[in-house]
Amino acid sequence: MTGEWTCHRCGADTLLAVLHVPGTWTNATGTRFPVVHKLVVCAACDPAGPRTPAAVDEDVLAAEADAWHRGTL
Ligand SMILES: [Zn+2]
Repeated sequence: MTGEWTCHRCGADTLLAVLHVPGTWTNATGTRFPVVHKLVVCAACDPAGPRTPAAVDEDVLAAEADAWHRGTL
């Protein structure tokens, strides 16, 4: 178990792993920069539907889109 982490999809304290996957992101100016995607593997909600995406937080999405358009993401 991962201890301090809880699953962002179901809220359970049953995470088996938090994977840090390197990637890149391109902002509005075309600048690419490195990012790390955190993927959780949960014993509670992954067995029936592994990697089921969480519900989108529309406020966070809008804020990130605004930052991307300003070139500050
Ligand atoms: Zn879960």
